[in-house]
Amino acid sequence: MPHLLCLLLACAGRSPSPVESPSAGLQVQGVTIVGGAHDGQVLDVLVVDGLITAIGPDLAGEGAVRGEGLFLAPAFIDSHVHLAYLPQSAELAAGGVAAAIDLAAPLDFLAQEHGALRVLASGPMITAEGGYPTRSWGAAGYGLECADAAQAAEAVQSLHAQGARLLKLPVTSAPVLSEEALRAAVEAAHGLGLPVLSHALSDSEAALARAVGVDLLAHTPTEPLSEPTLSAWAEGAVVSTLRAFGGSADTVENLRALRAAGATVLYGTDFGNTRTPGIDLAELELLVQAGLSPAEVLAAGTSVPASTWGLSELGAVEVGKAASFLLLREDPRRQVEAWASVEGVWIGGERQAP
Ligand SMILES: [Zn+2]
Repeated sequence: MPHLLCLLLACAGRSPSPVESPSAGLQVQGVTIVGGAHDGQVLDVLVVDGLITAIGPDLAGEGAVRGEGLFLAPAFIDSHVHLAYLPQSAELAAGGVAAAIDLAAPLDFLAQEHGALRVLASGPMITAEGGYPTRSWGAAGYGLECADAAQAAEAVQSLHAQGARLLKLPVTSAPVLSEEALRAAVEAAHGLGLPVLSHALSDSEAALARAVGVDLLAHTPTEPLSEPTLSAWAEGAVVSTLRAFGGSADTVENLRALRAAGATVLYGTDFGNTRTPGIDLAELELLVQAGLSPAEVLAAGTSVPASTWGLSELGAVEVGKAASFLLLREDPRRQVEAWASVEGVWIGGERQAP
């Protein structure tokens, strides 16, 4: 019964009454909730210590943020960023992004703090000697060069020990790790519970990535995909990054075809290579071009990545989740342009903008 008051018991052994403690924290009054269990309902939202503690009618007291006629939508998760390349975590948070998946950074990045922004990072990509990206943009430590399967597996163990929470494995033009080494890296990652993403842009690269057990495409491939490759990815996932490649027709068509085959779509911008801090409206519009409805775009940026990356505190405006949300003047379930109609952004209960 999601329209009734639901409470998170903040203290064991007693029932806290948010109605009687209006000074407890942030309150939003009479707002239309977007997504999750309360989708479309007009309710009050109470926040204590950065968490949503109650959602229901007539909860908010004096001093509440007025939400009448406004929409409260969960903050986004960007599933492809490079913060070492463009260190703007505060700007991302202010732009409505609560968490980001960092897909290639030098080793010391794994120990860094990012303020309000939750970051899950791969650290350096594991690559062949002289492989992508060590002879181009990633020369300064963005790739860890491995000679064979044993070194690749060892490198995964070492990255995990230093804080990596996922593995990025390029499958590009030569030099590339041998198939045996790719498999060894994937196996080591899966043994540690790390999901594996590949930078793979052509049909043969995307096919090889899937054949060695890779879980997600870090980009929508840019070259046309064959039917066998599309079926191979039916139970996989793809991070959109459509704008990073100029939103080309082939790339948009690939995303449409991957979705039609059954693949899961995650919103991602390749921030660092793209430079719009926050929710990138141009990426959202390209997702719509690829056939996603505004509600499906919402899911690709919130609930879907929350479950993909195990970010259980994010992805919805629900009791027990982090108070990471945007107050919007327009309804993002009707049109994606609504994500630009921002009245306020909170991440973990702290106001980030305006
Ligand atoms: Zn990237």
